[in-house]
Amino acid sequence: MIPAIFSILSGLAFGSFLNVCITRLPQGESVVAPRSHCRRCGRVLTAGENIPVFSWLFLGGRCRSCKAGIGWRYPAVESATCLLFGACYWSYGWSWETIAWAAFCFLVLGLAVMDAETMLLPDWFTLPGLALGMVAAGLRGAGSIRAPQWRAALLSVSFALASAIIAAGVLLLISGVYWWIRHRPGLGIGDVKMIAMLAAWLGLPRTALTFVIAALAGAAYGVLLVARAWRKPLGAHPISAGERQSIATLAIPFGAFLGLAGLYSAFLGEWTLRWYMQFFR
Ligand SMILES: [Zn+2]
Repeated sequence: MIPAIFSILSGLAFGSFLNVCITRLPQGESVVAPRSHCRRCGRVLTAGENIPVFSWLFLGGRCRSCKAGIGWRYPAVESATCLLFGACYWSYGWSWETIAWAAFCFLVLGLAVMDAETMLLPDWFTLPGLALGMVAAGLRGAGSIRAPQWRAALLSVSFALASAIIAAGVLLLISGVYWWIRHRPGLGIGDVKMIAMLAAWLGLPRTALTFVIAALAGAAYGVLLVARAWRKPLGAHPISAGERQSIATLAIPFGAFLGLAGLYSAFLGEWTLRWYMQFFR
């Protein structure tokens, strides 16, 4: 009971902070100052307006002064962070791994949403994520804190680093081939850093699974976009500027799919791979 309450409260608090990061980091703004304010009229939010999920529901998703809409992304990210923190606790119990995986979820969810909204994957999330993945691998290898297995820790860190380098290399290769064929960038360097981070945490088999799921989902999304555009001429129906750009250039926020697939693989990857391998026995 207490862990559940703790998961929910910390999920709401960190989810709320994650929203601030998602809104501000891609714009190059500070995440600590100024205090939370309406993006349109600039009025600083009162404590009562800053309660995760509940304030949004209570205010009907609008600013109290200027009535500007506040996106459903805010309560969605807060709820998703709660669920993910709960999943971490459920998977790892009362251990440092729970905290480590909660940090992973925080960063990956943030990257997914930032990429969906802005097509940007800030270094502020990918690079610390990569470093934390290495630290977590080291701790896992060391076993206990009181009698750490230094050799095993070093081996584990090397393994995470090698996984990150291989995954990044494969993605670079794919993006190079794409460039060679289409003469324009298909994947950004942000995607490369992000998959390196995922590989450090998940290892290569689960990263491969993540990549396959993300590629399939991304392709399905691309087909859906084109089909929608085909049905009605561009501009005839209310599609967002981002969607219009995606259709025009067929640029898909791959990091968003990579993030969602990575979160799936973190919790259900082993299970999925076992299920898949049974067909080859
Ligand atoms: Zn306002």
